[in-house]
Amino acid sequence: MRPLITAMLALGLCAPCAFAQMPATERATLAKWPSWTAPQKPVRVHGNTWFVGPRGLSVLLITAPGGNVLIDGGVPGDAPLIEANIRSLGVDLHDIKWILNTHAHFDHAGDIARLAHDTGAQVIVSAADAPLLARGGLGDPQYGDDFPFAPVVASRTVRDGETLHLGDLQLTAHVTPGHTKGNTTWTWTSCEDQRCLHLVDIGSLSAPDYQLLGNARYPDIVADFEHSFALVAALPCDIALNPHPEAVDFWARVDRRGQGHADALVDTAGCRRYAQAAQKSFEAQLAKERATAAAKAAGS
Ligand SMILES: [Zn+2]
Repeated sequence: MRPLITAMLALGLCAPCAFAQMPATERATLAKWPSWTAPQKPVRVHGNTWFVGPRGLSVLLITAPGGNVLIDGGVPGDAPLIEANIRSLGVDLHDIKWILNTHAHFDHAGDIARLAHDTGAQVIVSAADAPLLARGGLGDPQYGDDFPFAPVVASRTVRDGETLHLGDLQLTAHVTPGHTKGNTTWTWTSCEDQRCLHLVDIGSLSAPDYQLLGNARYPDIVADFEHSFALVAALPCDIALNPHPEAVDFWARVDRRGQGHADALVDTAGCRRYAQAAQKSFEAQLAKERATAAAKAAGS
C-alpha cells in the first residue's frame, strides 16, 4: 500500500494522504475555512464564464469551441469537486486546454497538479510566480514552508500585458505583484445575448499579516503593491471577480440576481472599489509597521 500512496502523492492524486501529510498550519487554515472545500453547484457568471469552484474559492471555467480554460485550482483535495462541476456542465475534462493561475498559494494552486493530470491541460502562469508554483509553495516570502501543495512545472509563462489566444478566446495577463511576486489579474470578454462584458479576475491585493518593511525575501513589496492598486483600479471592468468570492460580494450579487435583479453582477466600479479598499487597509498596515519600527529605533 505504501508505495502506491507514495506514487499517488507524487501525482497529487490522493486527497486524504495529502491531508495527512499537511503541516499543522495548513490543516488549521482548512479547518478555519470550511467553505474552501464545500460543494457548490456551478453558477453561470456571464455568457461562457462559469464559477465551478467550491463555495469559498473561485475556480472559473471559460468555455469555447476551440477549447476551454480553467482559472485556479482550489486547495489540495478540491479537484474531484471541481471536475464533477465541470462534467455536470457537459464539458469533457479533456477539452480543457489551459489552466491559468492567479497566484501560487495553496488555496488557489492547491490542486492544479491533479487537474492538469486529469485534463491534460497546459498550465500557464506569470514568469514571476512560476518558481513558487514549481516549489509547491515552499519558500514563500511571507509564509515560508507553512502552506505546501503538489508542485507544478508550468508549461508556459506569460509576461505582463501578454494576451493569449485559444481559438476565439483571448485572455490577457496583468501582473499585479505584491501578494506574490507574480500575482496575476486575468481579463477577458464574455458575451451573452450579444452583450459583451469585460470580466476581470482580480489577483488578490491583500497582505494578511505580511511583513512589508525590511523583508529580505521580497524587498520591493511595497512598491509592487502600490503599482498593482493603480493598475487594477484603471482596468476596464464590468464584472469584478476575485479568487476569494466574498471579496467582491459574489454570492450576495448572485442571490440578488436570482431575485430578479438581472444586472446584479455588473458593476463598472467593482475593480476600482476593490483596489481602493485593499490599498486603504494596506496603507494602514504599513503605517502601523512604520510606527512599530520607529518606536523600536527610538528605544534602542
Ligand atoms: Zn494568497
